[in-house]
Amino acid sequence: MLRVHDVRIRYADRLAVDGVDLTVGDGEVVAVLGPSGCGKSTLLRAVAGLEPLDDGTIVLDGHDLAGRRPDQRPVGLMFQDHALFPHRDVGDNVGFGPRMQGLPADVVTARTREALALVELAGAERREVTELSGGEQQRVALARAVAVHPRLLMLDEPLGSLDRALRDQLLAQLPEVFGRVGCGVLYVTHDQDEALTLADRVAVMRAGRLLQVAEPPVLWSQPVDEFVAGFLGLDQVVDVRVADGRADSPFGPVPLPGAREGAGRLLVLPDALDLLPGGGAGSGAHEGPGLDGVVVRRRFAADRTLLVVAAAGRTWEVPAPRGERAGRPGTPVRLRLDPTRVHLFAGRASGG
Ligand code: ADP
Repeated sequence: MLRVHDVRIRYADRLAVDGVDLTVGDGEVVAVLGPSGCGKSTLLRAVAGLEPLDDGTIVLDGHDLAGRRPDQRPVGLMFQDHALFPHRDVGDNVGFGPRMQGLPADVVTARTREALALVELAGAERREVTELSGGEQQRVALARAVAVHPRLLMLDEPLGSLDRALRDQLLAQLPEVFGRVGCGVLYVTHDQDEALTLADRVAVMRAGRLLQVAEPPVLWSQPVDEFVAGFLGLDQVVDVRVADGRADSPFGPVPLPGAREGAGRLLVLPDALDLLPGGGAGSGAHEGPGLDGVVVRRRFAADRTLLVVAAAGRTWEVPAPRGERAGRPGTPVRLRLDPTRVHLFAGRASGG
């Protein structure tokens, strides 16, 4: 439905968007994920017609958008600074787009009612924008973007200004809103949680280029390079040497059938490691790849407790087993590696 092809956008002497290809299908949610300054907003603004292209094409529903003004493009926009009109009430804010489209008053009223219901603010038409909480203001901004019945809904860091609890609340509501709106969604964020939670596909961007476009489980288990992995929080990477379908690693040999020979970097996924029950340094009886180490400390994550274990010159994180004693600093343990939960980066093999 949306097809961005080889788009380049230059500011002065630098390319903010550097040859981007991206599609969004009807009803599909695509997140553009990358660090601040990588060109995400510029790309989104270009689709909205707010930024001229230096090269490339943007096609929506088969129509090249070149030469179409922003108000002639069937898109709905929502930004982090929601930019609601402070002197107009909620209804006037949400009805703004449909009014600008020249729709009759009764249709504007119906669209406004429908959009507010969608964001669970039914009946809020006559409330003042300035009296709303931050979360409510963001929902009004979303209703305003949706009220124009866009073919493509575009959101730029829509949760960025909210505190954690509100953010999580709205994050949980968005999939249903997207589903009911039913159009394509282009969602820009620097937050991997948001991208992986919401998107059917995630496009990881760095310095104006898309490094990988993939469904969340694929992105998570097969990131193309260490930048993508690191950006997702996957940083357990070790040097290995691959020969005869096996990687020689600190965990011992790890079977990698068909893998490219030579020196490489192996990603150990977060769920790849567990502690061998009764494991301890020197307990050589255990089969399969593993590594002896020592518990350094416990770490409390949002929904679980992890043990930080020192082994092979670095630290590893493993889910803490139940029971107090297991997690004491200084306890010798054996890390067991699930050899199916690793990923060899495809980078150039050197040597070997
Ligand atoms: P992101 O949304 O990923 O944070 P942006 O698209 O806002 O990134 O910016 C990409 C790059 O382009 C940044 O280096 C930024 O400083 C630069 N940039 C953005 N807007 C302008 C502008 N209007 N003029 C000049 N440079 C800009």
